[in-house]
Amino acid sequence: ATPMSVMVGVGKAAEAGVLIRNGQALQTASKITAMILDKTGTITEGAPRVTEVVPVGDMDEASVLRLAATLEQGSEHPLAQAIVESAQDRDIELGEVDGFNSIAGHGVEGRVDDCSLLFGNEKLMRDREISIDAYLEQAQSMAAQARTPMYLASGERLIALIAVADPIKEDSVEAIKRLQNDGIRVVMLTGDNRDTAKAVAEQLGIEEFFAEVLPEDKSSKVAELQQQGEIVGMTGDGINDAPALALADVGFAIGTGTDVAIESADVTLMRGSLHGLADAIAVSRATLRNIR
Ligand code: ADP
Ligand code: MG
Repeated sequence: ATPMSVMVGVGKAAEAGVLIRNGQALQTASKITAMILDKTGTITEGAPRVTEVVPVGDMDEASVLRLAATLEQGSEHPLAQAIVESAQDRDIELGEVDGFNSIAGHGVEGRVDDCSLLFGNEKLMRDREISIDAYLEQAQSMAAQARTPMYLASGERLIALIAVADPIKEDSVEAIKRLQNDGIRVVMLTGDNRDTAKAVAEQLGIEEFFAEVLPEDKSSKVAELQQQGEIVGMTGDGINDAPALALADVGFAIGTGTDVAIESADVTLMRGSLHGLADAIAVSRATLRNIR
């Protein structure tokens, strides 16, 4: 395509709220054969809410929620925000946390009221040899409803199961369908557990997904598809997504996401809607079709 036609294409995309960093990105977008979509904050709103608080021992709901929320004050994860907000909604006063530590892709730990607390996913509990078997079925049924179950342990003992739900953006299903209709292989990528990921993928009509992917492994999924011969688009919003966005043939950042993601991407979707992906690809294909 001529420099002039590329400029026109970049301008057209901008009118649709799709900011393309350079002409090369516009041209490569037309060749994308596979699109990897991060789940949390990209496909979903990224604003989870607590749906269930299930105490396991003799503590009540407010007491276990207070412990979890006190611990999560130290975390910036969207899941942590959901827990803290839920406690605030119930007018629960939070305490203080000592020795807070966040375990990437797994959860958090720290001391509250002289209890050693551990809060996070199934993998974390297994790693620390906390017995959760009696509650696995309940957790799986939460996950089957596209919710994310988390376990709270005090010392060696499980004391609660807490679930959150993160609603899918209202236009994600339509936007994903447009990509699939364009002949693009759509793959979902998440750190969340397999059962929750499966339920979300089903609601979206996505057949392929990578679940339980650690933050540092997200970019290797991009490489995996590239090795299969795909021209890979990657769409994400988080700090975790930055290396994958940089490695992808075209990286797309959600405009409402983190600055690091935006800086690592070639394209920014200002409106946060995934429709920007099919819009960008349409402009790109039209630009290369018209002038050759
Ligand atoms: P994602 O951004 O897709 O949720 P992460 O790698 O950040 O992926 O987290 C993976 C999983 O680790 C979460 O689904 C959750 O179960 C657990 N986890 C991570 N951070 C926290 C936290 N602050 N509190 C509780 N659980 C957490
Ligand atoms: Mg995300």
